[in-house]
Amino acid sequence: TVVLEELGKSFGDNGPVIEGVSARIGQGEFICLLGASGCGKSTLLNIIAGLERPTAGALEVPADGAAFMFQDPSLFPWLSARANIELALRLRGIAAADRRARAHGLLELVRLGDAADRRPHELSGGMRQRVALARALSQDRPLLLMDEPFAALDAITRDLLHAELERIWRETGRTIVFVTHNVREAVRLGQRVLLMSSRPGRVVREWTVPADVRHDPSAVGALAGEITT
Ligand code: ATP
Ligand code: MG
Repeated sequence: TVVLEELGKSFGDNGPVIEGVSARIGQGEFICLLGASGCGKSTLLNIIAGLERPTAGALEVPADGAAFMFQDPSLFPWLSARANIELALRLRGIAAADRRARAHGLLELVRLGDAADRRPHELSGGMRQRVALARALSQDRPLLLMDEPFAALDAITRDLLHAELERIWRETGRTIVFVTHNVREAVRLGQRVLLMSSRPGRVVREWTVPADVRHDPSAVGALAGEITT
């Protein structure tokens, strides 16, 4: 469970970027954090990740921590997909004898088993994000924080990855906090959508999205339209 209590964050004397953000995120939930550019989404995610300290309020996050995934996959270009994953496993102390099998399992999970030996420049953008997702999952953390991971992808690839991410979420039982400025994406993925305002960033509204709405493109469009107006 993640508990945020009246979180605030200011950088220097510029006034708060976010203010009075409270939320409770249950284990295994898929939450989308939606808001315009600059409203403080990444700041809030960084606070949850422990990368930034809040200047007001308090938070509770799982002791075993979070894995992070960003818009930029940040893969090592000279390493194959498999070697990128193996390196991440090595850095968290997984024994050499286990790394290959684990990396293979993770690449299968993101449906990249056949491309394991390719280097990043030999993969499409969507495939690179799959590798980045496999690497985030390799950390075995209960909480997965995703900061606009699919923003740079075309709509068709993004749709495909939405379905894959949803399947992986169900299969792995992760808690996911997914940041996006794309309303349709938020409604497609989130069991709950938290809408943030700008200056200061606050959670101003919240929607619960039933699975049958998330899986029906026209219902997604209708709810997205409602949120936009
Ligand atoms: P985007 O959708 O464009 O990624 P965002 O919602 O993630 O935007 P943040 O990156 O959290 O927004 O930034 C919110 C505000 O905080 C911005 O005005 C930004 O300039 C400011 N900000 C973020 N980090 C810092 C920092 N380290 N120092 C000073 N100001 C910062
Ligand atoms: Mg951001």
